[in-house]
Amino acid sequence: MSRPMRFFRRQSLRSWIALAMVCAVLPLLVSSAIGYAVYHQTVVQPFRDVLTRQHDLLISLERIQGDYWTITEAVNAYVLTGELAQRDAFEAARARVEAQFARIEVAVAPENAEQVAVARQEWTRASADAAEVLARPRESLGRSVTDLEQVLAVEREFPVAARQLEAVLDQMRIAGETNHAAALLAFQRLELGALGAILLSLGMMGIGAFIVNRAIVLSADELVAGAERFASGHHEIPVHITVPPELAAVAEAFNTMTRTIQQQREQLADHARRDGLTSLLNRREFDAALGARLGALTAGQPGFALLMGDVDHFKRINDTYGHVEGDRVLRRVAEVLVAEARADDLVFRYGGEEFALILNDAGPAAAAAVAERLRLAIAAAFEAECAEGGAGIAVTLSFGMAFCAAPAAPEALIRVADGALYEAKAGGRNRVVVRAG
Ligand code: GH3
Ligand code: MG
Ligand code: MG
Repeated sequence: MSRPMRFFRRQSLRSWIALAMVCAVLPLLVSSAIGYAVYHQTVVQPFRDVLTRQHDLLISLERIQGDYWTITEAVNAYVLTGELAQRDAFEAARARVEAQFARIEVAVAPENAEQVAVARQEWTRASADAAEVLARPRESLGRSVTDLEQVLAVEREFPVAARQLEAVLDQMRIAGETNHAAALLAFQRLELGALGAILLSLGMMGIGAFIVNRAIVLSADELVAGAERFASGHHEIPVHITVPPELAAVAEAFNTMTRTIQQQREQLADHARRDGLTSLLNRREFDAALGARLGALTAGQPGFALLMGDVDHFKRINDTYGHVEGDRVLRRVAEVLVAEARADDLVFRYGGEEFALILNDAGPAAAAAVAERLRLAIAAAFEAECAEGGAGIAVTLSFGMAFCAAPAAPEALIRVADGALYEAKAGGRNRVVVRAG
């Protein structure tokens, strides 16, 4: 496997989800950035250009006003002094005004065009009159009333033309400021909207990551924790997952699996503790139980009895009826022993056709009475079989009992019970012999 592949395979589920979120939101961020750039170029920049042009127009108009005063002064100075240099000053100012009007007419907005045309007409008339005055020789001015009227006309016309320009200026200023304020507000709203959309999308991404984390990653963690608990031997706590349904189904399957394994383990453990023929607790369990019972002996408590039982002349049964029948007899003996023993008593197959019982918390007399009851019950059970038309085998057991009220070694106690059993056999079988342990 290549190194990049190994790297990707090592990444956690969280990393993959984070990557998916980034991939999902990346187009939005990129398109927002591109959209903002385009908006800036197609809306903001042209608007700025319009504002700049408007500003230029205002400056041009102000310059024209300045030149109007220059021309008026030139005409006055010429009339008073006759300086020819005033003609040059006039011509220069006229050229500047013409140039400014030419620029204004190109750049003016349609709504102001008419006012500008009126202003220009005023200018044309006033400048023509001014040129006429300046063209006359100085001496002729003032000799006739007509000449003086011409000079006065120029004096009147330029203020009128200047006021005309002021009206244009005011109109443009007001329109410009209103447009500017409205457009700025619109831009601010647009920009805030775009910022809000991006923040919302990032917030949604965060919420999405939180939900996915809770729904998948935490559930996966719980699954891993459950598997680790099971591996370390704690089978009792099930895995609890509710979302998503897929992982909940995996958890349910996992719990079913652990339950089955646990049941099988318990069955195996139970098999290991029991004898295969009679299902009684086996010899190993007997050794363990006897050791434990002796260890738990305490002063002032009634003690317990160890009862050893052995089927009388069992070899004969095998020899007469066969081993299959012999096995059945052993199973039946086991059944009767379990049925007749008290709930607290323990019944074991000690080996072959020998059984052992631990009779708990009873005094010697009570234990002997239990032993006697067991002996009679077994004999009665097989007599009943005869009566019901069975094989007709008379089966009895001999019992040797050792009563134990003080600490002792298990072997010693078994030896005493064994001795009592031997006595029961020697005494004619089918009987109980009791000894103190
Ligand atoms: P006693 O009354 O003195 O106890 O005589 P007995 O014949 O019962 O004693 P013995 O020890 O001579 O014979 C026990 C027989 O039990 C021998 C053995 O073949 C038989 N046996 C031991 N285990 C089993 C078993 O699991 N199944 C069967 N069918 N027979 C078994
Ligand atoms: Mg025997
Ligand atoms: Mg026997």
